[in-house]
Amino acid sequence: MTQSDQLTFQNPVDRFPEISPPKQDQPEPGLDAEIVPKGDHGEESYRGTGRLEGRRALITGADSGIGAAVAIAFAREGADVALSYLEEEQEDAQHVIQAIRESGRKAVPLPGDIRDKTFCNQLVEDAVRELGGLDALVNNAGKQVIAESLMELPDDQWEETYNTNIHAMFWITKAALKHMPAGSTIVNTTSIQGYNPNEMLIDYASTKAAINNFSKGLGQQLAPKGIRVNAVAPGPIWTPIQPSQGQPKEKLPHFGQNTPLGRAGQPTEVAPAFVFLTSPESSYVIGETLHVNGGIPTP
Ligand code: NAD
Ligand code: MG
Repeated sequence: MTQSDQLTFQNPVDRFPEISPPKQDQPEPGLDAEIVPKGDHGEESYRGTGRLEGRRALITGADSGIGAAVAIAFAREGADVALSYLEEEQEDAQHVIQAIRESGRKAVPLPGDIRDKTFCNQLVEDAVRELGGLDALVNNAGKQVIAESLMELPDDQWEETYNTNIHAMFWITKAALKHMPAGSTIVNTTSIQGYNPNEMLIDYASTKAAINNFSKGLGQQLAPKGIRVNAVAPGPIWTPIQPSQGQPKEKLPHFGQNTPLGRAGQPTEVAPAFVFLTSPESSYVIGETLHVNGGIPTP
């Protein structure tokens, strides 16, 4: 667990320990409640500085991993948060909801499957009604499942990965824009995989490249309306997506050790990038991708 908050002067090499997760397997979607070792979402450490005071945010995949850390950080920065996740992730969501409420902010749980367009529209309408408006969207939900070869990549998996990572982002963003005033922000989660694709993640990595491109195009389109679109590209972050077929099991013990920093990242280390891109302090930053990957160079 974290010894100090994210604002304390400290050595990034050992801010968090190098982890060597044991071989483990979970059905999709994985649960934070089950991963070994536990990830750090900033529950005990993230210190807000009022950068999102009064904001109203919808975050997808907010129950666990990076989304959970973003939800907690947003609440500590003063935002109310609507959380999208799958029903079977209620246990993880409950943990985040409690952390948000303990931070004195509103948490709105909105479980459901974003592969469904009707649900995506309902999700946004429910978030707007419960939050009293919407001025921050974080498209962070994602599906990542390895396949040894293209011939072994099931057609269903291809479609589900694109439905989850791409189509849902389009539907949710389109529905959200109807409600977002000037000053609003959209931050999409892409990946190092969008730049350096792993050969076992053909479907996933190509969605992440598309998310990056979508963000840069839409960023230009919406800038004159005062709505900023940006992206965050995490590297190896220890979350439930990894031990639920996101990686070959035998690679888990070395997860993240090949980064220049020499260790995997924790979800809470990704959250400040989302905070920065959502906060008005990044007013001149549009169509940017912020890399949070322990130093892996990107093309
Ligand atoms: P995670 O498993 O904690 O989060 C993914 C979330 O996606 C799940 O919690 C789930 O709520 C949501 N989701 C998946 N399918 C859904 C569906 N059909 N309907 C509704 N919600 C659905 O893992 P994470 O690593 O925190 O992933 C968050 C994002 O970060 C993803 O977009 C992932 O691609 C991206 N990312 C992760 C890493 C990493 O190393 N962990 C690296 C780069 C990018
Ligand atoms: Mg989850």
